Amino acid sequence: MSQLGTVEAGSRHDLRVGLSPDAPDEAEFRDDGKGAFGYVHSYESSSRYDGPGLRIVLFLSGCLLRCSYCHNPDTWHLKDGTYVSAQQVIDRLGDFAPALRSLAGGITISGGEPMVQLAFTRRILAAAKQMGLHTAIQTSGFLGARADEDFLSCVDLVLLDIKSGDPDTYRRATERELAPTLRFAERLAAMGKPAWVRFTLVPGVSDDPANVEKIARFVGPMKNVEWVEVQPFHQMGAFKWKAMGLEYKLADTQPPTRETVERVLGQLREAGCRAR
Ligand code: SF4
Repeated sequence: MSQLGTVEAGSRHDLRVGLSPDAPDEAEFRDDGKGAFGYVHSYESSSRYDGPGLRIVLFLSGCLLRCSYCHNPDTWHLKDGTYVSAQQVIDRLGDFAPALRSLAGGITISGGEPMVQLAFTRRILAAAKQMGLHTAIQTSGFLGARADEDFLSCVDLVLLDIKSGDPDTYRRATERELAPTLRFAERLAAMGKPAWVRFTLVPGVSDDPANVEKIARFVGPMKNVEWVEVQPFHQMGAFKWKAMGLEYKLADTQPPTRETVERVLGQLREAGCRAR
């Protein structure tokens, strides 16, 4: 059993590894349905980008994708996170709740992938709703089939990463399949769940016009999607790959040019998306 630690403030860009060496493998992990304990990377207390208003962003450990451009490979494994009680997280959230409420904000649970530790995520979101906070998850949607109605009833907004519109490109970029994400997106659309779609624009990986066009045409008709956000690739996570001894194939990749970002925004808007 992992040693109980303390949920630490910090940044998604802090390197955290090896804090719970006896944690289970994230691909094998099945939570107990209660989620009283979980593995956490860190939290940020003043984001303005991860949902409406001022946000606490909680970064959980565990992800089943292996994106070639991942900025936070130290969130992939449960064993790199800190084992904490949900109550400790909820108590900390309670300290911030009055400020978050007054600034029309709330909590966003990100990762890693928040649906790896579904019960832990649900427990924190349910507590946040009881505090009158807006709730969001940031997810790849790959584990969307795990999200039952009870879980989704605790989520006000889904920040859904659609990393590619083309299945082969998606497989090359993430080492996983695209279809579960599209199924989850369609389910959210059918239930009218508010969503912001996020697309990381990576030169040489996801910037092909035909690839972008597939996302644009898929998302364009979805009335529940309030925004499609284009997130330009950057190199801020490169040092983590090196520090963790991982082979980083994008060491020479530059951020997309302003022209490329504008071209992608134009494709999305042309298809009816509200894009930024
Ligand atoms: S889904 Fe996110 S955390 Fe997981 S590998 Fe991809 S970029 Fe990294």
